[in-house]
Amino acid sequence: MSRAFNFSAGPAALPEAVLVRARDELLDWHGTGASIVELSHRGPEFMQVAADTEANLRTLLSIPDSHAVLFTAGGATTQQALMALNFATPGQAVDFVVSGHWSKVAMKQAAPYVDVRIAASSEAGGFRDVPSRDEWKLSPDAAYVHVTANETIHGVEFRDIPVVGNAPLFADFSSSIASGPLDVSKFGLIYAGAQKNLGPVGVGVVIVRRDLLERVGQPRANIFNYASQVASDSMLNTPPTWNWYLLGLNVKWMLGEGGVAEFARRSERKSNALYAAIDGSGGFYRNEVAANARSRMNVPFFLPDAELDARFVAESRAAGMIGLKGHKAVGGIRASLYNAVPVEAVDALVGFMRDFQQRHG
Ligand SMILES: *Cc1c(COP(=O)(O)O)cnc(C)c1O
Repeated sequence: MSRAFNFSAGPAALPEAVLVRARDELLDWHGTGASIVELSHRGPEFMQVAADTEANLRTLLSIPDSHAVLFTAGGATTQQALMALNFATPGQAVDFVVSGHWSKVAMKQAAPYVDVRIAASSEAGGFRDVPSRDEWKLSPDAAYVHVTANETIHGVEFRDIPVVGNAPLFADFSSSIASGPLDVSKFGLIYAGAQKNLGPVGVGVVIVRRDLLERVGQPRANIFNYASQVASDSMLNTPPTWNWYLLGLNVKWMLGEGGVAEFARRSERKSNALYAAIDGSGGFYRNEVAANARSRMNVPFFLPDAELDARFVAESRAAGMIGLKGHKAVGGIRASLYNAVPVEAVDALVGFMRDFQQRHG
């Protein structure tokens, strides 16, 4: 068996060590005679998995006590609707900073419940930059300000997320969480679907400032109520135990590798190598994102024509590299460099790019 270098945007690569451990524990979890997915979520075994996972995630991300942590069955898109229901009154203003595809999805999910306002947008420029802070027009009465920390499709990232006014800052960190140090206390809410940088698909994480849970929000079923979910340790109903367990293994792996400081170092190294290869290709490969907004996690790039893009995808696959086809919204190639993607994978990609250009350039 040989595992490919996996550059998939999500669901994405998991560390081999995590997969091997899950395989080894699959049939008999710690001498219980059953798989962890066959045990009650309220039993001592899974309760321990859940508690360890939260404790390790708090350590990994330096989450202060002021913030609660939720493990959710819905992914990032579900949270985009739920946060409107939980933290805004019906029709209340919410400010959105629009830096790519996922920012627009966030607006769409909130639109039935709130007054969606675009505080700033880089769409006119084709999402090749993040809107600079002095262009943001914030509403005095906004329930919250929403930003997308990293735009997975357009490859645009806030390297430093600006300070906002009185309204709390809510941020979609689906594709960049745990890729570097972050001051969680600056955020009202951070959320992420796990399948990019935290673990498998089927579970999400919400990190929310506890005082915000006292907001009345809008009429909603209890299952959609974050405060109720926090009070019941994310177990109002049967949680996605397998996904939660895998997420826990992955968080433990990240801590063992050196935590977010180490992943910040690796992310710089990987993304710098790839951008240098693109910029040094004499225009054969192109990435048009402004230098200070280039994503460290998702690197979209283009060859001279769509036929070469397709050939690149086919030949890279044959060379043991998968997941490089660009998103259909933008085309081209996209390499996702999440924490589980080793530096060697990027070195191999850069070598392949040079070789490909020699043969087809
Ligand atoms: C993948 C992604 C989403 C959507 O996540 P789901 O878990 O599929 O809902 C939202 N935002 C960003 C930034 C993403 O990368």
